[in-house]
Amino acid sequence: MCRHVAWLGAPRSLASVVLDRPHGLLQQSYAPRRQAHGTMNADGWGVGFYGVPHDGSPDAPEPARWRAARPLWTDASFASVAPHVRSGCVIAAVRSATVGMPPDETAAAPFAGGRWLLSHNGVVDAALLPDEAWRAAESVCDAAVLAAYLLAKPDELGLRVAAVGRRDPAARLNILAADGRRLVATVWGDTLSVLETAEGVALASEPWDDDPRWVDVPDRTLVTVDADGVRTETLEPR
Ligand code: GLN
Repeated sequence: MCRHVAWLGAPRSLASVVLDRPHGLLQQSYAPRRQAHGTMNADGWGVGFYGVPHDGSPDAPEPARWRAARPLWTDASFASVAPHVRSGCVIAAVRSATVGMPPDETAAAPFAGGRWLLSHNGVVDAALLPDEAWRAAESVCDAAVLAAYLLAKPDELGLRVAAVGRRDPAARLNILAADGRRLVATVWGDTLSVLETAEGVALASEPWDDDPRWVDVPDRTLVTVDADGVRTETLEPR
């Protein structure tokens, strides 16, 4: 199981989202505190973010991504650049590859589709997913096929996650997705916590520090974050 994190709010450096927290994604790559599946996340990492448009357009452009197949803690180049890049919408992940899945960079989250970024924290029987998703996927990794399936209809992300979860009871389907202006997340089989501050909202597989404002989101929940704040909905009646 991997770990992932997202930020939506005032622009801040990639270092502050990914590297500079006492128990942030960097520490979670080698010493996660809440990880139930796997012990470390050394099989690659990735960050996707929406830059400030340079042409004056009000639209966030398509996201930029930086991914690698090596452990985050070995990436000195990223560590040197991350303090200098700022964004108001970021998704980052560290990977613990599921057995049988490819080890290369194309299998590292976040995956992209148009304006969207998506990270999958979990495992799914990708054979259950439609041929179109396999054709559109960036990799044969289960998470990449799932990303292609979900991003084909981003507005139905919660419905599609619940449908996949019902067909594959062994699946763990924690998703973090972003389009530059909103975050959409699901909790299905693993942990997710949310931190609301005056500057913005962070979603993370596990809290990046011991701030008492972190709130754990219950299993089987869809979380949406936008300019109006954080909303949660139950994904299926219990
Ligand atoms: N199944 C995905 C992969 O192999 C995600 C793994 C995870 O969440 N640990 O990359």
